[in-house]
Parts: sequence; C-alpha cells; structure tokens
Amino acid sequence: MNFFNYRNGELYCEDVKVRTIAGRTGTPVYIYSTRTLRRHYDVFKRAFAGTVPLICYSVKANPNIAIISLFSSMGAGADIVSGGELFRAVRAGVEGREMVYSGVGKTAGEIRSALKNDILMFNAESLEELDAVDAVAGGLGLKAPVSIRINPDIDPRTHPYISTGLKKNKFGIDIRYARDAYVYARSKPNLKIVGVDMHIGSQLTDVSPIVSALRRVLGLVRGLGRDGIDIRYMDIGGGLGITYKDEQAAQPDRYAGAIEGALKGFGVKLILEPGRVLVGNAGILATKVLYRKQNGTRRFMIVDAGMNDLIRPSLYDAYHEILPVIETSARRFQQDVVGPICESGDFFAHRRSLPLLERGQMIAVMSAGAYGFSMSSNYNSRKRAAEVLVDGEDYYVIRKRETDSDLTRGERIPSFIKVRSTDA
Ligand SMILES: *Cc1c(COP(=O)(O)O)cnc(C)c1O
Repeated sequence: MNFFNYRNGELYCEDVKVRTIAGRTGTPVYIYSTRTLRRHYDVFKRAFAGTVPLICYSVKANPNIAIISLFSSMGAGADIVSGGELFRAVRAGVEGREMVYSGVGKTAGEIRSALKNDILMFNAESLEELDAVDAVAGGLGLKAPVSIRINPDIDPRTHPYISTGLKKNKFGIDIRYARDAYVYARSKPNLKIVGVDMHIGSQLTDVSPIVSALRRVLGLVRGLGRDGIDIRYMDIGGGLGITYKDEQAAQPDRYAGAIEGALKGFGVKLILEPGRVLVGNAGILATKVLYRKQNGTRRFMIVDAGMNDLIRPSLYDAYHEILPVIETSARRFQQDVVGPICESGDFFAHRRSLPLLERGQMIAVMSAGAYGFSMSSNYNSRKRAAEVLVDGEDYYVIRKRETDSDLTRGERIPSFIKVRSTDA
C-alpha cells in the first residue's frame, strides 16, 4: 500500500503532482511519501502489539536525516552499521540508548564514538571484534554492552548478494561456536553481555527461514541460561521483503505472529531492524526521457537517471515497475530503459512493454525508497539526485541536488603539476 496514484491521468505523490516537484528540483529526483512511511511504520508496529519490541530502523536502507527523524518521532530507534550512520542518527535526534550497532568491520574510532553516545548494544561479529570493543571500553573506563551476532546457517532463499545467514557468508559467528564466543565475552572485563542477534538476509518473502533461524538461536539462548549467561535482548534483524513486481511478500502480521509464537516463554525483549519494508514502497525515482533510439531489434529509452542513482537493477538484476508520469495512449513497445552511464549494465529495465514516450516526458521508477539513494554514487562524475519528502499538499527538499563543486570537494592538484588554464 502506498500513496503514489494517478489522478486524471497524472501521477501524484499524495496530493502533489510528480510533475510539479520535478519542475522545481529538476530530474532525476527521489520523491518519498510521508503518509506511506507513517503507514508502513504503524502497520509494522501494530503487528507486534503483543510484545512491544524496540524497532530500530535500519538506517542504511535510506539514511536521509529527515527519514530517520520521522521514524524517530514515531518512537523508532536506529540500527547503524558505521560511524557515519551513528552521526546521522544523532543528527536526526535518535537517543544512543535506542541504537544498535551491527556490521563486521567496526573500527576502534567507530567503537569509541558509539560508546561515547551510550548506545544500547554492539552486535559483535567476531572474537577479535570483542577484543577491540573490550579494549576501547577499558580505555574509556566503561563497560560495553554487547550481543553476539549468530550465523545460524539458514538459507533465506533470497538473492545471494543479500543472503547473510549461511555459514559461507561473512556475517556473524557460526552457531556451533556461539557458546564458546559467549564464554569468551564473559571473560572480558570491560564487556557486559546483554543480547543475542541475528539477521539472515534481505527481501525475504517467506517467514519460515526467519523462524527456523530464530528457533536455532533460541536453543542457544536456553543453553546460555544454563551456563549462567542471561540474555536480555533478542535482536532478530530485519529482512522482511516487499512487492516489487508480483512477489507475495509476507505480511507484517504473519511475520509478527510467527516470531511472537517462537518467543513464547522466553523473557527477552525483542529488537527488530526493519529497513526495506518501511521505506521501499514509499519512494520513487522520477527521471526524464532524453532520447529514443533503436539498435538492431532493440528499442532504447535513454533517461537522465543512471545506475549511479539506482543500482539495484544492475547489481541484483532487480525488477522495478516503471510508470509514465503522464498516462498516454501512445503505442507500446518492448523497450530497454537505460541511463547515460558508460556501462552496458546501466539499465532500469530490459524489454519492458512501455508506451513510446516523447523526449522530455517523465517516467517514475517505482519502489525506489530502499537502497536507492543510499547506494547512489558519483560514478561518471554525475551529481547525486535531489531528494524530496511529500506531506499531503506540501513537499520539502530534504537533500539538494549536488553541484559541480560538490564533485571536486576535497580534491587537490599537487604543486608539482603545472596547471595550464588559469580558470582551474
Ligand atoms: C541491512 C540490514 C538490515 C535491514 O535489512 P532490510 O532487508 O532492509 O530490512 C537489518 N539488520 C542488519 C544487520 C542489516 O545489515
């Protein structure tokens, strides 16, 4: 469910025409719907009404501080994976006590800032990381709250690049050695064991792998209890999928029901780290047709957004629905929708049936709210797109389009190179 709809043949975000926004910001532009974001958060939260979990929004899905802050205003915490995300979450008004810190490669500096911000817990992913957290905490005279991310060796049946809970993946500690890892953590003077963590992958459309993984991890929790290691927080990560095309995505209700069922009898506080399910269908990428052409039998629609703006099709062969911003009765053709970047992998769709649009007309790449702008880059020295948040009849630029000088910010030509033009 989202609030991108046609009215009188024209695509709106809530009560604002996509065309109006693009007229102001130019294209490409990411447009997010507040009403959709709020609704997704409410539905997700209400599904768990039986357990009252801490919902830590997974910042990497869409890290704009306006988005983090919207969820925070609704009661969410944050799941962060870097010092940069910590900075953003703090800027967005999230309390340290509502942050969990995941990721396999936390640096000493990042660990220090997280401790200074009094985060709820580190989800540690290796014994050496436990050493590092212990050392930094010792230096600050603090006890660091830790949980250990378990790799439960469960196949989440999603794209291999976003599968994280198999023992061939880099994530977490192999469940067979998890007890040893906890005993090791207990031996560290500056660590305080508070939880257990898992996250088996993203865009999961079936809850059963999550439940299987959870049961394995709960078996571990029971064993730890016998060893006198009490687990207060059970963090089960994120990963709930959405409908991009025709996937039957698991509904939050079913997901919540299955998890609450598995957790019965365990006196743990549940932590969730949803990302995509909250923001994915709450955003679109609006882009303009630059040119049309035909090479052999292939018909190309060349648009002004590229893989640097939205890399999911190139990276995961992901499907995104594409809609003309103004409905048209123009004849439909199988078309490749491609960007301006010098890579054949720069595409949004292959052989998609779309009306033959004119130059200057716009399309909307749908379901672009998660892992869209957040994975964008400056490849081909393209300025990253503007981001706009719509709220009813109002809209706000929440990130300006980058400028030429943003592109070279921080770069220097060393003095041994003779610069020829004085315009440089
Ligand atoms: C990416 C990630 C999430 C969010 O995943 P979604 O599929 O967007 O819900 C949650 N937890 C961790 C540890 C992650 O790496």
